[in-house]
Amino acid sequence: MKKDILSMNLTELEAEIVSLGEKKFRAGQIYSWLHEKRITDFSECSDLSKSLIVKLNEIYEIKRLVAVRKLESKLDGTLKFLYEFPDGERCETVMMSYKHGNSLCISTQVGCKMGCSFCASTKAGFVRDLAPSEMLLQVYESERGSGRKVESLVLMGIGEPLDNYENVRRFLELLSCPEGKNLSLRHVSLSTCGIVPRIKELADARLGLTLSVSLHAPTDEKRNAIMPVNKKYNTAELIDACRYYFAQTGRRISFEFALIAGVNDDIRTAQELIRLLKPVSPCHVNLIPVNEIREREYRKSGKVREFQKILTDGGINATVRRTLGADINAACGQLRRDSMQN
Ligand code: SAH
Repeated sequence: MKKDILSMNLTELEAEIVSLGEKKFRAGQIYSWLHEKRITDFSECSDLSKSLIVKLNEIYEIKRLVAVRKLESKLDGTLKFLYEFPDGERCETVMMSYKHGNSLCISTQVGCKMGCSFCASTKAGFVRDLAPSEMLLQVYESERGSGRKVESLVLMGIGEPLDNYENVRRFLELLSCPEGKNLSLRHVSLSTCGIVPRIKELADARLGLTLSVSLHAPTDEKRNAIMPVNKKYNTAELIDACRYYFAQTGRRISFEFALIAGVNDDIRTAQELIRLLKPVSPCHVNLIPVNEIREREYRKSGKVREFQKILTDGGINATVRRTLGADINAACGQLRRDSMQN
């Protein structure tokens, strides 16, 4: 099997190129072709010798991604891509355009193991991790396919990023590399369902990322019922890890809370949430009217504003997430599911 050259950092690439008997600076040239000019074929490297290009072709592959569908919202210009990898697996990527710039939501795995009861991405189970190159290509291809520049990024698509930790770390390294996309990690948010040991590792790495935690329920009893991961790492451990993250990085935690009618949108739940989050304040709660998926009976809560007010009155900063791309089903997981079922 050929090596995945797009997943290599510059140091690795230098070692590779030197081992081929070439000068070290060639690696920098190749890296720039791959990550600045974003070539898809080594023959485009006009400053390399024919013989080196032949060697590169023998040893390395430049991974690819093909957009099999591209939907554009008529309401707000949100773009949703369904990408296919050479092995036939697919993932979703969403480009959202705000006044302050374009934000890209990428997938980190094909499918997901986490089993959250309200989530479409996990319904057909887990297939495989995405390689660093496959996450990076979502950025490169989405910029090319939209003509828009990605100014911020969220790891909030299909998959659990902290369940693919090493690859995600490498992806972030490549994304922020000055010789490549050069995106500051201050403009990146990572969303997790709560893999506690990894949150601590990430805190220790002090990458400057914003951590988003998918909470959705404030007590073990309620969270166990909708998020199986809570049986492994309970809410007390999770909040502890969040405090640690804040202490290590100085970055406020953002908590995602999808409001589901009759499940987690009552006054008592709001009060429990205030109690839970006090120790990790200042923090931020992002209230999301749950996205209705085919597989479940869950309905959007009609009490979003009420819920928000209780939190705000209780001293917890809370906003309601604006819905984008409502007409193209832009919430992740559903397009891939549809394409699997057809
Ligand atoms: N695995 C990561 C990232 C992917 S999910 C995580 O759990 O955070 C991205 C976000 O969408 C999470 O907050 C997730 O809980 C939320 N989500 C999933 N299904 C949803 C739905 N049907 N409605 C609203 N939010 C949903």
